Parts: sequence; structure tokens; C-alpha cells
Amino acid sequence: MSQAYRDFHLQPLAGEWREGSGERVNRVTNPYDGSELLSLRLATRDDLDAAFAAAERAQVAWAAAPPAERAALMQRVVGIFDVRKEEIIDWLIRESGSTRLKANVEWGAARGITQEAASMPGRVHGMTLASNVPGKENRIYRKPLGVVGVISPWNFPLHLSQRSVAPALALGNAVVVKPASDTPVTGGLLLAKIFEEAGLPKGLLSVVVGAGSEIGDAFVAHPVPRLISFTGSTQVGRGIGRIASGGEHIKKVALELGGNSPFVVLDDADLEQAVNAAAMGKFLHQGQICMAINRIIVDESRYDDFVKRFVEKVKGLSVGDPNEMATVVGPVINVQQREGLEEKIATARREGASVLLDGEIRGQLVPPHVFGEVTPEMEISREEIFGPLVGIQKARDEAHALELANATEYGLSSAVFCGDLSRGLRFAQGIRAGMTHINDMPVNDEAHVAFGGEKNSGLGRFNGDWAIEEFTTDQWISVQHEPRGYPF
Ligand code: NAD
Repeated sequence: MSQAYRDFHLQPLAGEWREGSGERVNRVTNPYDGSELLSLRLATRDDLDAAFAAAERAQVAWAAAPPAERAALMQRVVGIFDVRKEEIIDWLIRESGSTRLKANVEWGAARGITQEAASMPGRVHGMTLASNVPGKENRIYRKPLGVVGVISPWNFPLHLSQRSVAPALALGNAVVVKPASDTPVTGGLLLAKIFEEAGLPKGLLSVVVGAGSEIGDAFVAHPVPRLISFTGSTQVGRGIGRIASGGEHIKKVALELGGNSPFVVLDDADLEQAVNAAAMGKFLHQGQICMAINRIIVDESRYDDFVKRFVEKVKGLSVGDPNEMATVVGPVINVQQREGLEEKIATARREGASVLLDGEIRGQLVPPHVFGEVTPEMEISREEIFGPLVGIQKARDEAHALELANATEYGLSSAVFCGDLSRGLRFAQGIRAGMTHINDMPVNDEAHVAFGGEKNSGLGRFNGDWAIEEFTTDQWISVQHEPRGYPF
């Protein structure tokens, strides 16, 4: 294997690694100890234009390449993921504050979607349909979209970029990625190195590192990309939807936005399993996961028992250096995130939630906070927390639990624990969300299964056949085999 990738002050723009043309410099720091990892000059609108133009040129030959060639490229990427596993995990720990456990999960998810993408070129198919016009044949051809623009967040940067990049490229598109400023390496630059090493032709994958506030609108409004695949907050996603499909150039948008996952414990649930699932589903990656548990809703007959066991379990989770094997809760991504959580803690106290567990905040290490006697009106219930805090609500019965679970503008993931699986299924079908897990945590992602949200959690689905649908488009081509009789 070649050397480890260490130096990331250049960006792959339009087929060459070079500095961004901006004056401003982005300093990327380790969220745990604040040490500087790298600094790089930001890209400008000119860099963006160059990247999109190169993508548009390179895409034509790539779309015409045999499916087996694109599949083989993806297989080579999977091979590099395996060989460079420790290096990728190390970057995830240092740049995004991932614990070892979370970094391993993320590496596995990104590898999994690449493996799935390797099968996609061979799965694309069109169809023929009978015609009502004598002598006509109707064909539907499925084609790549052209150029895809990907905007990703900092929490699962590698996977949330790769789940668009790999299928889009495998299906014959070119891609320009804009990673989050906190995670330019794991959200794009490292992936670009891996694809280059695997032999991806130049210009097909550019990474522009620039502030969302500066080049974000230009990226989304640009005439070249036919699809903007955005993963991030609902607030930013709303603006992206407006610009992408309400502006001068009408384009497709895939929006994977915020969540407010309910975790429901019914009166016949196995409490030990429920407590273990709740701890993992809440505190993995410090709660900074779109599918993370945001509200725990427990049948009142089991409330005291659940609370006692859950607090006991959470007290035992170790908080600290994400590089240590035993650490469960590492640092939150940046100072703004920590300050936002401090405000949420203060608001929960002020609004009358009872403090069941708290702890001292040191630097960007926020220990788990658990609140009881929480009501649906409190901020901690209404808003996405995106941190290691959680409130527990009491439900009078199953119907009330369902009402509480649905009392949110979001609809990404959800979970219900129960003994009777028919009852669980009925409950799950009543939840208005894109994903519901019975007797498991809401944090689940499998490369071949539909992933996405309802309500203000987004538009579209990732993974498997759904990704093929998302990153290709249909063209109706009809063939008139014999002269058609026109009325005039
Ligand atoms: P964010 O919306 O602040 O940023 C996401 C990305 O958008 C970043 O790359 C950012 O630079 C860019 N951006 C910001 N303003 C922009 C603009 N005006 N135009 C174009 N791009 C712009 O989100 P975040 O703080 O990075 O991530 C956390 C959020 O992401 C949470 O709400 C979380 O739930 C959501 N999320 C959703 C999913 C999902 O699959 N549904 C997955 C992970 C995270």
C-alpha cells in the first residue's frame, strides 16, 4: 500500500489537487483537545464553476463506460477501505470527535454502501410499454442524471458523503461534494484520495471546501448539477429546497434533514433490553445522530422501574478521550454546539424537568444529562437535541404513547419496545415516520434498505433500489414503426 494520507491542504478541483482560491483559511481542529489538524484555503465561486464544468465534461465518457467497469471501480474502493481501515478510523476520531466504536460503525456503513453501489450498475433497467397508437413502441430508458451536487454534515461525514457519492458515480454521474467546514477531510478529501487511488478518471469527483454561508447558495443555484443531495439541518434544508426548485434552474432535491426520534416503552416491554437500546440509541456519538433518541416515552406503569435502571446504566458510561477503547461519550463537535447544549440544559431546568442525572461540562466533553417528568411542551421534547441529553415522558396508555410519539414536526426514525409483536406492529404502523424499529433502537442503517424521513425530516430515500431511483432519471423514447395516420 502507498503512504498514509496526511497532508490535506489541497483540494481536488476540476481534476487537479490545488489550493482554494479564497483569501480565507479554514483551520480544522480536533474536538477533543483543540489541537490544529490542518488549515486550508477556502474555495471560491470560480473554483466551484471550474469543478462543475470539469464534472460535466468528464461525465459523458463515464456514463458510456460499461457497467462492469464502474462496478469494478467500486470494488477497488471497497478494497482500499479494508486496507486503510485504521487510517480512516484515526481520521474520524481526530477530526469529528468520534469514539472508536462510532468510527468503526461509520467505516462499516461507508464501506457497506460502496459494496452496494458496486452492484448498482448491473441493476439499472428500463422497460417497454404497449402503445395505444398503431405501429408505435414505447420504451423507457433509465439514464444517469448528469452531475450531482452533494452537501454533507459533520456528524457522520464519511458515510453521509459516501452514501450519495458512491451510488451517484456507480450509476454514471459525476459528483461535486461540499463537506462541512468542521470535517473537510472525512467528509470529502479523504474519499477523493481513495477514489483516485482506485483509478477514478479525473474531473469526475471534485471537493470544494468553502463556507456554506459563502458558496452555499451558488452551489445549489448552479446551472450544472441536476440533483442537489443535501444532508443537514431542516433549517438549512428549507432554504436549499427553495433555491433548487424555486429558482432560475429547476432541479431535483434529495433532503435528509433533522429528526426528533421517539423511543416508546409499552407496558409489556422487556425492560432490560429497552434500557440497553435506549442507552446506545441516545449516547452513540454523543447523541449527534439524526436518528438518535430525542424523547423517551414510557408507559406510566413501568416508568419508575425504567427510570431507575436507565439512570443506573447511563451513570456507568465513560466520558472522555474518544481514542480510548472504553470511551462511550466523547467530545461534541465544536464550541457553538456545546453552548447550545448548555442553553438546552438551563431551559429544561427552568421549564421544570426533574434532573435525574447531570455532570460537569469540561471543554467540549458534555456528560450525559437525563431529565424526568418531561412534558411534550418543553423545549427538550419539541426541538432536536443533537447532544447527550434526554428527557423521559410518561404515557397513560398505548393510545397516549402514540399521540406523544407523533407530537413532532419531524418524522425520521422511531422505535417501540413491547412484548406482543402484533401490538408492536400496529403501533409502528401508526407512527408517522420514514423508519420505525420494533424492539430495537431508532439508530439503524442498512445499505440495501430504504432510509429517509417524512414530514419536516426530508424528501427522498437512500440505499439499494431507492438510490438507483434517486440518482437516475427516465426518458420515454417511442419508435413509430409504420407511418402514422394524422387527422390533418
Ligand atoms: P447544517 O444544516 O448546519 O449543515 C449541513 C451542511 O450544509 C454543511 O456542509 C454546511 O456547510 C452546509 N450549509 C450551511 N448553510 C448552507 C447554505 N446556505 N447553502 C448550502 N449549504 C449550506 O447541519 P449540521 O449542523 O452540519 O448537521 C446537523 C444536522 O444534520 C442535524 O439537524 C441532523 O439531524 C441533520 N442530519 C440529518 C441526517 C439524515 O440522514 N436525515 C443525517 C445526519 C445529520
